[in-house]
Amino acid sequence: MKRKEFIKRSTLMVAGSMLVPYSATPLNPGNMTQNIRKNWAGNYQYKAPNLYLPGSAEEVSALVKMKDPQKALGSRHCFNNIADSPNTQISLQKLSRMLEVDKENRTVTVEGGARYGDFCEALDQQGFALHNLASLPHITATGACATATHGSGVGNGNLATAVSAVELVTPSGDIVTINREHQDFNAVVVGLGAFGIITKIKLNIEPSYQVRQDIFQELPVEMMADHFDEIMSAGYSVSLFTDWRYKKVSQVWIKRRMDQEISDLGDEYYGARAADRNLHPIVALSAENCTEQMGVPGPWWNRLPHFKMGFTPSGGEELQSEFFIPRENAVDAYLAIEKMSDEIYPHLLISEIRTIKADEFWMSPCYQQDSVAIHYTWKQQPAEVKALISRIEAELEPYGVKPHWGKLFSVDPVALRERYERYEDFLSLARNYDPEGKFRNAYLDKNIYPV
Ligand SMILES: Cc1cc2nc3c(=O)[nH]c(=O)nc-3n(C[C@H](O)[C@H](O)[C@H](O)COP(=O)(O)OP(=O)(O)OC[C@H]3O[C@@H](n4cnc5c(N)ncnc54)[C@H](O)[C@@H]3O)c2cc1C
Repeated sequence: MKRKEFIKRSTLMVAGSMLVPYSATPLNPGNMTQNIRKNWAGNYQYKAPNLYLPGSAEEVSALVKMKDPQKALGSRHCFNNIADSPNTQISLQKLSRMLEVDKENRTVTVEGGARYGDFCEALDQQGFALHNLASLPHITATGACATATHGSGVGNGNLATAVSAVELVTPSGDIVTINREHQDFNAVVVGLGAFGIITKIKLNIEPSYQVRQDIFQELPVEMMADHFDEIMSAGYSVSLFTDWRYKKVSQVWIKRRMDQEISDLGDEYYGARAADRNLHPIVALSAENCTEQMGVPGPWWNRLPHFKMGFTPSGGEELQSEFFIPRENAVDAYLAIEKMSDEIYPHLLISEIRTIKADEFWMSPCYQQDSVAIHYTWKQQPAEVKALISRIEAELEPYGVKPHWGKLFSVDPVALRERYERYEDFLSLARNYDPEGKFRNAYLDKNIYPV
């Protein structure tokens, strides 16, 4: 055995069983079968031959030092190849604990593999809350922040805006802490997986609060267009669901905090009627998977997401894409897309419109820009959806459209980079952290690293 190979193998043995590839074991229920690893939606099969499940930051570091191309794998909820690697995926699913609630400094620290659903209820039991959540609790906090995942609310930044520090295993295997004061913070947190593997994430918290959700149906588009800002400000978090047809927004979901002033919205709201039962955003589906509605107050973690942990979120068999534009263009953009409703509807399950407050993350689509996000949950019809995505991107191009990094898009990478003011800074920092390109993959090579 050559010396180099011997050292590599000995280190593997010393480090223990976690360094045995785990690719023959299911990772999560769902699309993770023997040697075939797919994303949650099943539309993408990961090409990385190896999967490792380390049990500590030190084990992550040992893996990062030894392996060549690699990538952290979260809960697999992205719809594209962002979490893939030509060689190795490292899942932190064994690192999913809530570590510390610091009541004095108002932070919670969780391990890098923790899904929101793993710790939010326990955090609430200690009297604390996060500022916002996405539509589902099934995603990891690190994976969500890496792609600037967001909920809704004119005053709410994306989920990464709650981050106060991360513990990062850099491509050289060093374990470093990057907090808000660190000059690289705004690049690394929404880092698209380019800087290494986050083993701990510290999030800002606030006193726990209750939320009620009220749903209104069939909002006339004319009313939405005339009162967009009022409607989107009617609650702490507001979502519009639409299938783009009949000049109606199908559902308005208004989530209001019980510790803020609550007025009676009545049975009719800007021409929309109050729902008389719990609804799924796709009205034909059972609302069993959805969080409680009908104005019944409940804890923040069980109202801010649309979908409950323990149930399949959304429709299940689907594709997703989402596009961000400056908030002031929301109504014009809506009306532009509405004109395509005959093309879109046959392939659509539902669309959702949300607002997101500006933030400071270099690669966030909401960087220094209050934004509106127009989301599409598509039927699993890849060819038709691909064609429609290009058409929608072209339609939204005059508004400076930016796609969700974790969903399907086809914007030309060169044009896309030009829309990010801090792109050059991000690229140079990513190269600095990862000179050998250990964390590069086909996604980053296409969208971030110029050829
Ligand atoms: C049903 C459904 C509903 C959704 N709802 C929303 C929504 O409401 N709002 C929204 O904005 N998006 C939404 N999304 C998209 C989803 O939030 C993002 O795709 C998110 O990034 C998924 O996180 P994940 O844990 O599954 O990460 P993965 O898909 O596994 O990975 C995403 C990226 O994060 C990186 N990463 C993961 N873990 C780490 C780590 N420990 N260290 C460093 N990098 C890491 C990966 O390398 C990869 O680059 C939804 C997706 C689905 C399927």
